[in-house]
Amino acid sequence: MTMLLPKFELHQPATLDEAVALAALHVDDFDLLSGGTDLLPNYKCGLNAHRNVISLQHIAELKHIDAHSIGAGVTLVDIERNADVPRSVADCAAHIASPLLRESGTLGGNLMLDNRCHFFNQSYFWRRSLGYCLKANGDRCHVVPQINEGGKSVLNDKVCVATHSSDLAPMLIALGAEATFISTAGRRTVKLNDFYWGDGIERYERKPGEILVQVTLPRWAHEVRSGWKKLAPRQSIDFSVAGVGAALELDGENVKTLRVALGAVDTTPVLFDFSQQEKRRDAGHYLLMDPYKNMPEVIGKKLDDALIETIAKHVQTQAQPKLNVPMAPDYRRKMCGVLTRRLLTELRDNPAS
Ligand SMILES: Cc1cc2nc3c(=O)[nH]c(=O)nc-3n(C[C@H](O)[C@H](O)[C@H](O)COP(=O)(O)OP(=O)(O)OC[C@H]3O[C@@H](n4cnc5c(N)ncnc54)[C@H](O)[C@@H]3O)c2cc1C
Ligand code: SF4
Repeated sequence: MTMLLPKFELHQPATLDEAVALAALHVDDFDLLSGGTDLLPNYKCGLNAHRNVISLQHIAELKHIDAHSIGAGVTLVDIERNADVPRSVADCAAHIASPLLRESGTLGGNLMLDNRCHFFNQSYFWRRSLGYCLKANGDRCHVVPQINEGGKSVLNDKVCVATHSSDLAPMLIALGAEATFISTAGRRTVKLNDFYWGDGIERYERKPGEILVQVTLPRWAHEVRSGWKKLAPRQSIDFSVAGVGAALELDGENVKTLRVALGAVDTTPVLFDFSQQEKRRDAGHYLLMDPYKNMPEVIGKKLDDALIETIAKHVQTQAQPKLNVPMAPDYRRKMCGVLTRRLLTELRDNPAS
């Protein structure tokens, strides 16, 4: 059984410019290493390892944190303890993994986390015995073995539905965060919601050699009520199997803005922007959920219990978790509604949230 790290060359740049140059030099065969809490376990399982690993641990520019921007190299524990970031973001960070993992794990690693699946997060031996799968070494999916093409059921050799499991991604998307990347082509800033795209293999639109530098929060993120709730088998250590982040702005008792983002139930985080201004791009296949299908009218309405129930029902109806992480999909789907209802009730009743 292979549980040892494979051989790779470790590069330890001291500046972002050096890291960018190394990423360009090894563009077809490198991984970035931040805290290593996701990358190294995956390497030990023989999951898509590369020959060059570029460590970001010594780059001071990535470790800056203030009320409006968080560097990719800031650890989860530093986010948790920071008094200037929105409480919802600190609270979300505080419930990731375990205290020890939060000492090493970073924002960048969390946002770029690989998707998870029962058939993928296994040892090399285990996966080889099953014949591998699309996401590593194989040519088929064990979770969705058949798909419909032109009215015929055919072998699924195209779409991976591995689950996106970052907690901070949906929370930051609900708050309208943007992400800044750097490469030899310069810097580019995108809405975090637009960055995530595609199936469980593609996961996001990252240009060759790009490094995540920081996430920026709009002023608005500090003015709205926001919060995070997650479902996991255990409160500590375990990955989320469903998560809900929300940002709510009220005008008196009426909804002015509402953004709810789901995590851990699809191949990317999924935003429900009830103002319908930020829509999800077409992911190119039909196995993913559509948050805007039959979306109820919410804006301008009184946020009473009945409206909260309508919103929660909508989120629950649209969620389509797959049987590839712990807990049954039906239960996770139901919990998307339950968590949404609990969170919105708390946000409505507690102006300080
Ligand atoms: C037992 C256990 C439980 C966990 N529970 C949770 C949980 O509840 N919720 C959750 O969200 N996560 C969880 N995690 C996952 C992980 O620990 C955290 O998400 C952590 O924040 C990852 O950060 P890291 O710096 O260690 O990432 P790394 O392992 O260093 O990197 C992860 C990925 O991100 C890429 N990367 C890192 N930095 C950058 C950058 N600046 N630019 C571009 N790419 C980059 C790496 O190349 C790699 O592909 C858990 C992990 C373990 C082992
Ligand atoms: S969803 Fe299918 S292709 Fe993707 S990791 Fe799981 S088994 Fe592999």
